[in-house]
Amino acid sequence: MSHSIFVSDLHLSPERPRIVETFFDFLERTAAQADALYILGDLFDYWVGDDDLDDAFNARGTESLARLTRKGVRVCVMHGNRDFLIGQAFAGRTGAKLIGDPTLLDLHGARTLLMHGDTLCTDDVDYQKFRALARSRKFQEEFLAQPVAARRQRVGQLREINEQAKQAKKPEIMDVTLATVEAVLRQHGFPRLIHGHTHRPARHVHVVDGRECERWVLPDWYERGGYLRCDASGCTAVML
Ligand code: MN
Repeated sequence: MSHSIFVSDLHLSPERPRIVETFFDFLERTAAQADALYILGDLFDYWVGDDDLDDAFNARGTESLARLTRKGVRVCVMHGNRDFLIGQAFAGRTGAKLIGDPTLLDLHGARTLLMHGDTLCTDDVDYQKFRALARSRKFQEEFLAQPVAARRQRVGQLREINEQAKQAKKPEIMDVTLATVEAVLRQHGFPRLIHGHTHRPARHVHVVDGRECERWVLPDWYERGGYLRCDASGCTAVML
């Protein structure tokens, strides 16, 4: 049956070799059966720029996706907050299509909105400030002008600062803000919503202006991984 598969927050990194193998296995066994694979952000734990494509770890990751697109599976990649420097060279190498955040599509007959999810966490004011800076052209141009080794080092520092900041934040701050979710659903005409980022896999139902909207939150791949499978009859969450 014609179906699509959704994943996010794989955070692929040489530091977690087991989950990397799980992902490659998933691409070969599961994603290869689908019409399309959507990766909704944070495929990589960090991505310092497409000029790092030949790094051994990155090359293996991109080759695994290239194998999938060569089989005829459509692969769509959305930026997450860790890998937003993925660019057109990555797309060319893998055969994947970069899609914007948010993307609204007709998914097997159901209007569906795809997001990474970080823009829904509006209570986290510090993060939203950092996001606005990191996504600015000036910041990205300055960052990309540095040598790859210096960029890696900078990302390592940012990760440490980020980990410390997360420890200090209340858990509810790092979840989506309900009013923002409702506003987004209203703005896009009450679609189904699929996103990741919060690492709180679930199916929620929101009633907005009397309209029922389904919201699927994808799991992260820190311990085991999982995906969402959608076809014309609906979506099913599968943990690996
Ligand atoms: Mn994220």
